[in-house]
Amino acid sequence: MTLDRRNFMKAALGGTAAATAAVALPSNKAHARDNKAMPPKAVGLLFDSTLCIGCKACVTSCKDANDMPAEFSTPDKLWDTPLDLSGKTLNVIKSYAEGTSDVKDREGNGYAFVKKSCLHCVDPSCVSACPVTAMSKDPESGIVSYDADKCIGCRYCVAACPFGVPRFQYDTATPRIQKCQLCKQHLASTDAERKYKFAACAQVCPTGATLFGPVELLKAEAQRRLELEAGVAAVYPRGHIETPFPSHEKPAPDYKKRIYGDKEIGGTQMLLLAGVSFGKLGYPDLPEQSYAAKSESLQHSLYGGMILPLVALAGLAFATKRTAGAHKNEEGE
Ligand code: SF4
Ligand code: SF4
Ligand code: SF4
Repeated sequence: MTLDRRNFMKAALGGTAAATAAVALPSNKAHARDNKAMPPKAVGLLFDSTLCIGCKACVTSCKDANDMPAEFSTPDKLWDTPLDLSGKTLNVIKSYAEGTSDVKDREGNGYAFVKKSCLHCVDPSCVSACPVTAMSKDPESGIVSYDADKCIGCRYCVAACPFGVPRFQYDTATPRIQKCQLCKQHLASTDAERKYKFAACAQVCPTGATLFGPVELLKAEAQRRLELEAGVAAVYPRGHIETPFPSHEKPAPDYKKRIYGDKEIGGTQMLLLAGVSFGKLGYPDLPEQSYAAKSESLQHSLYGGMILPLVALAGLAFATKRTAGAHKNEEGE
């Protein structure tokens, strides 16, 4: 018997059919998983844009707390002036300005400030996309961390984050991903004399625009603020919501009635309030289903769909081997 094309295909299809029949195929129906739940002891930040005065003390303290180098954007290179998140900068304050920029926290002819740093998503895309678990979410605190020893530099996390947070260090010999890890090294420290006792950005913020604490309490505080009547004197805690520095008082602003991060892509552990719509502050409208849930459901469907082709491939290999064996026997080898 010669192994011509016709015989090969016939044998291959026969072998495939036999192999397929021998395997009980599981259902190929996609199973959509739900968004993951907020960890029980989740900690995070509440950023209130209406309290932010743009002093950038949080940017400086973030660099200090995380041993990050200065980044120069002016020709004299005298000041650390990061313009965006980068391999050297984990936290930036950006500004919104429109028209004459006369009034703070107003969209038309107004201006506002906004913080950009990792939101510590409840069901993070970066963790889901990382093929080697270099990105992980702590099951208790919910802090999303990065492990340089595991990272293979694929930058899937960079592509997956809907907020453009993780940044790759392109200018070092040993590049790594950089992003805020909620100052976990200071949270974990037991040194009573340490400079930073919790998130450095919240610890130094003079107005309480950035506030640290359990997400549950931060959410309740955000809700309280949304219920304030605009113009009426209100008290704002500063630093850590459980052990605040002396609070300060100011008239309540006209908030957009929305807590950003409450529902977006399954929720985030940094929540935001603002007087200007979030889209104008660079925070996109996002669905409630997390991207991680969506993509993992899709993967399940695709891998489920791969079973039949894999069985066919196994059958093809089996048939090829059997036909080649018969060919050898016919030739008396
Ligand atoms: S320290 Fe507070 S007020 Fe100053 S820029 Fe940062 S968030 Fe705004
Ligand atoms: S904001 Fe981006 S980097 Fe941070 S946890 Fe969410 S997906 Fe990951
Ligand atoms: S929590 Fe720490 S690392 Fe994250 S933005 Fe604030 S200061 Fe920077």
